[in-house]
Amino acid sequence: MNLTENKPTYIPQLIAEFFQAARRPFSYNLRKNFYIWFGLIWGLPVPLATLMIQIHFMAKGGVDQSFLDALCTPAQWFFLAHPFLFGVIFGILGTIRYDTDSRFNEAISNLENLSTHDLLTGLKNRHYFVDNYHQECARSTRRGEALYLLFLDIDNFKTINDTHGHLVGDIVLKELGRFLREKCRPYDIPVRWGGEEFLVLLRAAGEDAAIMYAERIRQGIESGISPVIHFSFTVSIGLTQYTDKDTLEQLCDRADQALYHAKQTGKNKVISWEALHRETGAADVSDRDSRNGKGTV
Ligand code: GH3
Ligand code: MG
Ligand code: MG
Repeated sequence: MNLTENKPTYIPQLIAEFFQAARRPFSYNLRKNFYIWFGLIWGLPVPLATLMIQIHFMAKGGVDQSFLDALCTPAQWFFLAHPFLFGVIFGILGTIRYDTDSRFNEAISNLENLSTHDLLTGLKNRHYFVDNYHQECARSTRRGEALYLLFLDIDNFKTINDTHGHLVGDIVLKELGRFLREKCRPYDIPVRWGGEEFLVLLRAAGEDAAIMYAERIRQGIESGISPVIHFSFTVSIGLTQYTDKDTLEQLCDRADQALYHAKQTGKNKVISWEALHRETGAADVSDRDSRNGKGTV
């Protein structure tokens, strides 16, 4: 492979990039562009060395020239200009570096965004939630806040897809994502768990407050979340409280048991695992059908 192949286009590109950067105010911004200072300091030895050399050779030739006299010769003015010249050149190179870094950081943040967000709804995705679960729980424990997990599943979503088409199904998911984002406070985390299933990690004062919040979400969805959806649909929500040392699997499993109960008893309702447990006892809720992949991480 000929390595010089790209040179004819590459070098003019570099020159064009250099002159483009020379027109940018950032190249001359002493406060922000650290490279200018680097250039000034780099250029400083040039006039100092040339002055010494001139004085030394003049002295050798029998001319005793003072520092000031040497400084006043036109040749030294040329060398004196070097720190400033270097400052400008390094300033321009600094701008190019800054642009490259900005593009690089933007690409990294885009990638980060892609890996932690669901493309369709814009909500955080399962990957993000699994990675941040322990951190969020630890924060709540530290602050003494009660933490709840809401497991939300659209009722009869397959029928929605079958009746209105997959694209409309996608719009429902997208609008539901927007609705959840709007309804959640900045410290709650709504997540698209997969398919038509969503989680909300909720900070609430107590079980009643968490149930009330979930009920508001359920009712809001039932009464219509968007003018672009011309039919009504409902969701079922299972919720449970985080207890110290709960793994994500354990927490999801309890919320899923509550959700399963909501589905089994007519859908379009909110069921709290704790309330259910108090009412019916552990045996009744633990013999649920073990549906594929549900509540597993
Ligand atoms: P249930 O009330 O018991 O939850 O019934 P359901 O029909 O909502 O549940 P089921 O698990 O039978 O069907 C879920 C459907 O969700 C099947 C699948 O095609 C659809 N689905 C999953 N992901 C997407 C998606 O990204 N877009 C669309 N349009 N549909 C999806
Ligand atoms: Mg489902
Ligand atoms: Mg469903």
